[in-house]
Amino acid sequence: MKKSDSSNLATRIEKIFMELLAIKSHTGTTGERDIEAYLYQELRKSDYFRANPEKLGMYPLKRDSLKRSIIWGLVKGKGKKTIVLLHHHDVVDTFDYGILKDHAYNPIKLANKLKHIEIADEVKKDLEAGEWVFARGAADMKAGAAIQIALVEEYAKQQGLEGNILIVSVPDEESLSTGMREGVKLLKDIKKKFDLEYVLLVNSEAHQRDEEDKGIFYEGSVGKLMPVIYVRGKKTHIGDIFHGFNPIVLLSQIVANTELNTAFSDVEGDEVSPPPSWSFCRDTKKCYDASIPEASGGYFSILTLTRTPKEILAQLQKVCDESFEEVIDKMNENYSKFLSKSRESVKKLPWSINVKTFSEIYEEAIQYSGDAFLKDFEDTTNELIVEIQKNKINIPESNFVLIEKVLEYVADRRPIVVIAISPPYYPHIANKDFKKLSKTVKEIGKRINDIAQKEWKETYNKKNYFMGISDMSYVALHHSDEVIPYIGPNMPLWEKMYDIPFEAMRDLSIPVINVGPWGKDLHKFTERVHMKDVLEKTPVLLDTAIKWALSETQLSEQ
Ligand SMILES: [Zn+2]
Repeated sequence: MKKSDSSNLATRIEKIFMELLAIKSHTGTTGERDIEAYLYQELRKSDYFRANPEKLGMYPLKRDSLKRSIIWGLVKGKGKKTIVLLHHHDVVDTFDYGILKDHAYNPIKLANKLKHIEIADEVKKDLEAGEWVFARGAADMKAGAAIQIALVEEYAKQQGLEGNILIVSVPDEESLSTGMREGVKLLKDIKKKFDLEYVLLVNSEAHQRDEEDKGIFYEGSVGKLMPVIYVRGKKTHIGDIFHGFNPIVLLSQIVANTELNTAFSDVEGDEVSPPPSWSFCRDTKKCYDASIPEASGGYFSILTLTRTPKEILAQLQKVCDESFEEVIDKMNENYSKFLSKSRESVKKLPWSINVKTFSEIYEEAIQYSGDAFLKDFEDTTNELIVEIQKNKINIPESNFVLIEKVLEYVADRRPIVVIAISPPYYPHIANKDFKKLSKTVKEIGKRINDIAQKEWKETYNKKNYFMGISDMSYVALHHSDEVIPYIGPNMPLWEKMYDIPFEAMRDLSIPVINVGPWGKDLHKFTERVHMKDVLEKTPVLLDTAIKWALSETQLSEQ
């Protein structure tokens, strides 16, 4: 890019960025529609899209009560090779701003207010330096969105552009990624309609740094699986306690055996996925009485770099079996002590290990109860969906209701642990897992690092996985035989209000890269982005990556 072009580009990026920040596009609200209208109108102003209206679109989400859309625009150059530029336009809410929340969308006012409150030294330093913009969504990811839009406008002005650029702006990334899951079909449709070949998908989420002059780009994204654990015990009066089985104790044991357990961390080179952590855990007691509860349930998240759902379910089954055994042993030990205190002969309790997956109990219910079960399950699901839409129950908790419903229809009445999976599920993706990768994609990181060195003496290091969870997860699918048969059948809400277009993802199979500006404190009230990156550095890096990926490509075996 020439100097004059880049200063025009910077002015344009800044304008779009500030206008995007001012729109309150909280995830899961109609504010997302407001930002969609803005994005569509901005793109439509360009001469290119005015002359080519069929290459710009608003793609409405199916059955979305908020009536949100994906905004897309295709700049058609020469040949089939196409770069997909992806960003999301929703942001997380502003509760963490507390009394400053009315200023979360106004960087100038927010910076003034932040000066008068107690903040960490590093934040204070950045605030005083004046190089950072503080606002909700500044880093995640309206800066990335503004850069991509301004770049697309530039490409649209160029004559004889080598290759094609498709920009895709999705809603709901911070929630269930409905935008991207539906965007997969849109990508397939556009590919067919315009006869394109997708060579690379470029996302522009902000990156966080350990060292000031070391940037990071990512050639993939971490996976996330949310197991749901439901424990049915045996209810009894507390005066008759050895006739019961306390589900709280077993769930607690499972929590203790999984929370921060690094056996669940994947290691890939020097990248390690954080160990699991529980988000929710409680019993199902509705009101007080002098008995132990009937059941308990909880859910947690497992981040993956390499393990498939098949492997994780096997690992969970083992941990739950062991936890069950530990609890029974402990109960027997206490029972023996109790009996000997009352001088009775020692007996064993009747409990045995009983751990099943949701798909197993679902099959049992069909075998045992047939159509009566299926009808009741469907009615219950439909009622639940209404409750979820009215925000009376959230999606992870709704799984407990459906598991209970299935257990009503099976013959097994013993204490049981049921393992299920809750939406959302994000498969991990990494370019290194692609069997065929073009030479240009393989060398793209070197280009990025070279230009960063040359222009600003900065190093850009590659990581295989963006750890922040992203929509990049949905543009390819590897090891599908260890994913597809394990997700749907173990997800009670599957194809009722949540699904993943696995086949279409496998068909698309697009390598990915995330190149975005330097950001800090994402999802916190001190969220901020470095403006030199937004206005100058990241656009150059993106332009370099795009031009390189659209240059001559040969497929080569990795
Ligand atoms: Zn994001």
